[in-house]
Amino acid sequence: MNRLRVSIIGGGIAGVALALDLCRHAHLQVQLFEAAAAFGEVGAGVSFGANAVRAIDGLGIGAPYAQIADRTPAPWQDVWFEWRRGLDAGYLGASVAPGVGQSSVHRADFLDALASQLPEGIARFGKRAVSVEQPAGQVHVHFADGSQHTCDVVIAADGIKSTVRDHVLRGLAQPEAAPRYSGTCAYRGMIDSELLRAAYREAGVDEHLINVPQMYLGLDAHILTFPVKQGRLINVVAFVSDRSQPEPQWPAGQPWVKATAQADMLHAFAQWGDAVRVLLQCIPSPTLWALHDLAELPGYVHGRVALIGDAAHAMLPHQGAGAGQGLEDAWLLARLLGDVRVLEGQAQQVLEVYDAIRRPRACKVQRTSREAGELYEYRRCGGDEALMAATLAERFDWLWHHDLHADLDAAHATLGWDL
Ligand SMILES: Cc1cc2nc3c(=O)[nH]c(=O)nc-3n(C[C@H](O)[C@H](O)[C@H](O)COP(=O)(O)OP(=O)(O)OC[C@H]3O[C@@H](n4cnc5c(N)ncnc54)[C@H](O)[C@@H]3O)c2cc1C
Repeated sequence: MNRLRVSIIGGGIAGVALALDLCRHAHLQVQLFEAAAAFGEVGAGVSFGANAVRAIDGLGIGAPYAQIADRTPAPWQDVWFEWRRGLDAGYLGASVAPGVGQSSVHRADFLDALASQLPEGIARFGKRAVSVEQPAGQVHVHFADGSQHTCDVVIAADGIKSTVRDHVLRGLAQPEAAPRYSGTCAYRGMIDSELLRAAYREAGVDEHLINVPQMYLGLDAHILTFPVKQGRLINVVAFVSDRSQPEPQWPAGQPWVKATAQADMLHAFAQWGDAVRVLLQCIPSPTLWALHDLAELPGYVHGRVALIGDAAHAMLPHQGAGAGQGLEDAWLLARLLGDVRVLEGQAQQVLEVYDAIRRPRACKVQRTSREAGELYEYRRCGGDEALMAATLAERFDWLWHHDLHADLDAAHATLGWDL
């Protein structure tokens, strides 16, 4: 059989999940090129909404995920987050995702679980793509080590700082899209849950706040907590926003992620109540992340090259949806490229259909992620807590209840594959 050569650039969650699915199809010849010397993720948590959990199942990685994922324990199993006032931990409401609740995992564990299933020879390391060309009917990828690779289709999963994105946007006669600093920084840390339990007990703070994922809200700041590693660790992200500039700039050359002093983090939340104070005191060595996203792109595809994941739609993490959107991309592309009808000269049309279906939804998730951060930080709903709680109770339903199979049906109809 004349196999379609599909090359994936970037081995993060989106790229590896796609590679794992595609390499099961006999009509595809799959290669994944990763710039680093090995797969690697940061030691932090990542949570997935119901839509992402369905994409994980559909990509055939539900079983390894279930083995390492955490869920909100009964009787709160359907709770995604409880919303609380940061000043006194007063309960404002909850967002409920029936059947899923909060589904979270340690990032490095997840990527390890996926990568360990990739057959030998699919992934190649130390391969940083620097440019892409598309002579008739083929794609050439050039790497920083001077080597070159030729294939039929390139899927770029090379993250928010994507190199391949420039090629796609130039091909669409659009300006390049640089990541934009949001004005928000996030302190991150993980706490041994037994240590936090003891600290809460000593301070007279309700241990329920450890058992159920929490979101503490305040003016221009908020904090989230959820468990990972079967509840042994609590993942903490504490966001602080400076909204004084309409277009905030992160200083050129400064790293987006760095170690920072606990005192700075404590100072930023000095006015908040005991639940938050004790929580943050349990993080002696936080890291500080400057949060960037992308503007909504005018296209994800040029010819035989497509963008997925953060390369296409990096977003702020306020709906816990960025990696999930990358998994939805991977799911749809895998269903289309994994269909043997793609061999009938339709690779390019498949990518165009992927763009037409995925881009409007991913753009909406980008937009609403930004807005969600404003809502959590009292910059929407006039800061009216009752209105905020009512909004939050239903705000994520459209995102979680999305019908991926309806997307696939629409793709099949456009490609004439439903006949
Ligand atoms: C604080 C924070 C919290 C978050 N929380 C959540 C959450 O709870 N839920 C959620 O769904 N999302 C969350 N996200 C978003 C999520 O982390 C990202 O959307 C996701 O990790 C992106 O995955 P990716 O595979 O597209 O890109 P990446 O993870 O960035 O992977 C890109 C890969 O490509 C490689 N690469 C880069 N350039 C090249 C090149 N030129 N050639 C070859 N390889 C290259 C990189 O080394 C890397 O391995 C959060 C983000 C942040 C910052």
